[in-house]
Amino acid sequence: MDQWYASSKTCSNCDEKHEKMTLDVRNWTCSSCCAEHVKDSKVSCSTALAWARR
Ligand SMILES: [Zn+2]
Repeated sequence: MDQWYASSKTCSNCDEKHEKMTLDVRNWTCSSCCAEHVKDSKVSCSTALAWARR
């Protein structure tokens, strides 16, 4: 859980940390490199996998 939160707050493109960003934000754009991050895509992907295994 901690790893997920930490990585979701860190830009995977430039490793910029956004500590002030709220955890419930789904879409955010890095203020440092302008990369777009969509947290929802990962969630829906794992959810689909869980359903497929049933
Ligand atoms: Zn960035």
